[in-house]
Amino acid sequence: MIVKPKVIVVGSGIIGASVALACQDLGAKVTVLEQGPLGGIASDKSFGWINASFAENQAYFDLRKMALGSFHALGNRLTLVDYMRWQGALWWEDEGHDLVEQFSSLSSRGYPASIIGQDQIKVLEPHLLKAPRQAILTTTEGAAEAQKVAMAILAEVEHNGGYVRCGVSLKGISQRMGRICSVQTAAGDMACDAVVLATGAAARNALLGLDWKLPMANKLGLTLKTNSIPLVLNHTLMTPDVHFRQNSDGSFTAGEIFSGQIDPNANPMDLAMDVLARIQIKLRDVPTLSLSEVNIGERPIPLDGLPAIGEVPGVVGVFSAVMHSGVTLGPLVGQLLATEILQGANCVLLKPFRPNRFA
Ligand SMILES: Cc1cc2nc3c(=O)[nH]c(=O)nc-3n(C[C@H](O)[C@H](O)[C@H](O)COP(=O)(O)OP(=O)(O)OC[C@H]3O[C@@H](n4cnc5c(N)ncnc54)[C@H](O)[C@@H]3O)c2cc1C
Repeated sequence: MIVKPKVIVVGSGIIGASVALACQDLGAKVTVLEQGPLGGIASDKSFGWINASFAENQAYFDLRKMALGSFHALGNRLTLVDYMRWQGALWWEDEGHDLVEQFSSLSSRGYPASIIGQDQIKVLEPHLLKAPRQAILTTTEGAAEAQKVAMAILAEVEHNGGYVRCGVSLKGISQRMGRICSVQTAAGDMACDAVVLATGAAARNALLGLDWKLPMANKLGLTLKTNSIPLVLNHTLMTPDVHFRQNSDGSFTAGEIFSGQIDPNANPMDLAMDVLARIQIKLRDVPTLSLSEVNIGERPIPLDGLPAIGEVPGVVGVFSAVMHSGVTLGPLVGQLLATEILQGANCVLLKPFRPNRFA
């Protein structure tokens, strides 16, 4: 009898779910542990833009660009049409010289992008009241409702014989001769061959038995959702004062600032009403939008802003999968990390993002 390696994945957001499915695909016996609601915390409050448009360096760009393909494949495999759209994006947060510079940085990396003028923007988005003079069109990008995608992945994991356990909090790990042998949880110890910490913003918390934790610089962001209206938007729109898009069910998802930090003293409801007004004023011949959800989410951001993916220092078999832009990266990172955990691969794409840079 072949004994399957036991992998425990901690966290059921889009990262944990993606890692779990990929490990299962490679033959592992998988258990997902989640202390809160299934589907994740940041994943539930995300703007969900799937893109490689903003990347601090070439390695991060390469990872994100490749991630678009993995998300496509996942969408086809699990028929995620209700939770994702590949509508492309129109970006005009800046104008003039700054817009051209942003375009140059994309095109020099071989990213499919073009600058389009007002007339073409009007054709692509006929419900915009006042089209900008110019925008960058990126046709290969998409957007997803990440918590729903995570739930669909978890359902697939369970369907294939994996376990998803809600209300179970990881407290620590136990090791034997420098290698993980079990995890300690409020529900008792569980034996495993590998554990993946996909704990999002909580990755800053210490764990018993592990002399290592990830330094984090998490940032708060506001997102909102609206009522459903007939489809009027064809792209994700990245404007100077609001980012918004329309979901497959006709609702809008919007975010105030893409990667900055909102004022922690701001009243979320007031801010959300303001953001909603910024959207409504940009549109014509569109029914009145109303708020259905207001979320303040914590972006899980390792201290240097880059993902922390791979084995952590100190104990063999303990892996980290913590990052911002986790919606974009989830499916690809899941696949790459699974090959490292189960096949001993050392993925070139992941090398710049090793957790031991913080050791
Ligand atoms: C406002 C906002 C806008 C964003 N916009 C974008 C965007 O446009 N594009 C993009 O790609 N990304 C975006 N992101 C980032 C993206 O949402 C996150 O990177 C991604 O959701 C992280 O997924 P995750 O699974 O790591 O974390 P989460 O979804 O937070 O899941 C982690 C899970 O781990 C669980 N957990 C933690 N500790 C324990 C423990 N000890 N035991 C058991 N369970 C535990 C938590 O309860 C949680 O459910 C945005 C995020 C925010 C907040």
